[in-house]
Amino acid sequence: MTLAKIHKIIYSNSAYLTLNNNTRTTLMGLPSKRRTKQSKRDRASHFALTPKQFIDCPKCKHPTLPHRACAFCGTYRGRQIIKTKEPRKSK
Ligand SMILES: [Zn+2]
Repeated sequence: MTLAKIHKIIYSNSAYLTLNNNTRTTLMGLPSKRRTKQSKRDRASHFALTPKQFIDCPKCKHPTLPHRACAFCGTYRGRQIIKTKEPRKSK
């Protein structure tokens, strides 16, 4: 197959449009089949978000994420992990 034939096949494809100034643009893909209500809703059944679980920091009682250093006082399991500018007082 010659290069000219390959070009002819590629550019005769409906995915390409030939404009007046001979530049080619590609079109976006379109869905080939209509998506039913059921299939749409089946897919959306996994979209629900779960709320974040918080624990109270044992030191300052500020709500923090579990297994992470407290963002408020910077301690984790009783040790100072993050340096805070000045030690914040508990509530
Ligand atoms: Zn804390």
